[in-house]
Amino acid sequence: ASWFGHVEPAPKDPILGVTEAFLADPSPDKVNVGVVRLSLSLHLAYHAVSSLLIAGFLSCAFSFGSFVVVVLMLVCAYPSFIYVYIRIRMRSSHHLEDGILQNREYLPMGGSVKMIDESLKLAYGEDSDFIKDKRTAAVQALSGTGACRLFADFQKRFLPDTQIYIPTPTWANHHNIWRDAHLPQRTFTYYHPESRGLDFSGLMDDIKNAPDGSFFLLHACAHNPTGVDPSEEQWREISHQFKVKKHFPFFDMAYQGFASGDPERDVKAIRIFLEDGHQVGCAQSYAKNMGLYGQRAGCLSVLCDDEMQAVAVKSQLQQLARPMYSNPPLHGALIVSTILSDPELKTLWLKEVKGMADRIIGMRKALKENLEELGSPLSWEHITNQVNPQ
Ligand code: PMP
Repeated sequence: ASWFGHVEPAPKDPILGVTEAFLADPSPDKVNVGVVRLSLSLHLAYHAVSSLLIAGFLSCAFSFGSFVVVVLMLVCAYPSFIYVYIRIRMRSSHHLEDGILQNREYLPMGGSVKMIDESLKLAYGEDSDFIKDKRTAAVQALSGTGACRLFADFQKRFLPDTQIYIPTPTWANHHNIWRDAHLPQRTFTYYHPESRGLDFSGLMDDIKNAPDGSFFLLHACAHNPTGVDPSEEQWREISHQFKVKKHFPFFDMAYQGFASGDPERDVKAIRIFLEDGHQVGCAQSYAKNMGLYGQRAGCLSVLCDDEMQAVAVKSQLQQLARPMYSNPPLHGALIVSTILSDPELKTLWLKEVKGMADRIIGMRKALKENLEELGSPLSWEHITNQVNPQ
């Protein structure tokens, strides 16, 4: 059965649709006159003044197509310090130069295409068939929270008679998100308080007892708040049972890279589901693994039957975003896409992710050893068995 076969393409937004058509047009001579801009001459005046003031330290102009966006002097000077900081930290003089801090454009409704493409590769693998066949409906989202909320709203609009199964316990905001999307919630067994580990048999029973075709929210890795993840073998059993029951798996992946230090290892659960032929949904966040908390950089993706369905689903996700925030924020997305699309920067990122995860793993080990050294009679095994949300 197809989950989203009945989803029709949304009509194009009369204003932002022009920008979409502009971006899709390969012509080198294209001009976007769809979004109101300050005139070029006004910009030149501002530019001259600001250049004088900051002694040619940086150019405030960012050209986009053949038009130029005005950047206010105050806005212009402030990020230059961040810019120099990033350049020094990255030991890279040119990669982040192009537009990261001087671009003030609107993104299209669905967000940065480059950032989405990189996010899809992180979630589904560099050579995923879904990506090759364009069977992914994906939009940039307001970090992980926004991705979950957009999916919940989509679920409510197109599958209004479904409900969502949420683990006990879970990140408290999951309850708020699906409540505000007006979808009924059920819970499924997850944590076993006595063993401070996974209640695997309880979990499997709840998967089996849920009505066929139920929606389940799964934490891809570093389950929050317990830090308890299924083993690879257990994920295989869960995936198999989902197949039997025709359940829909929605993965919330807020910590890719934070559990083991390796984003490829942390995404294993999703890959297992893909191997078994599931079409999943996924919320990705760069808050933790790129330290972009306040930038609200994330991605929502839904895997579809074919390209046509993916186009329809994506258009409907954009339709949902339009009255909420029109289009997502730019700078976090630029940072993410720049880093992930540049092999040198990506290597640096992977090293830093590993550094952060290793440090938390080291702290857990030290805490356990210290408690044992102090003569605690209790078992503290769970401190090192559990992984790292937060
Ligand atoms: N999902 C889970 C499980 C989380 O723990 C968090 C952050 N605490 C999020 C989603 C969302 O984080 P953000 O919106 O900052 O990406």
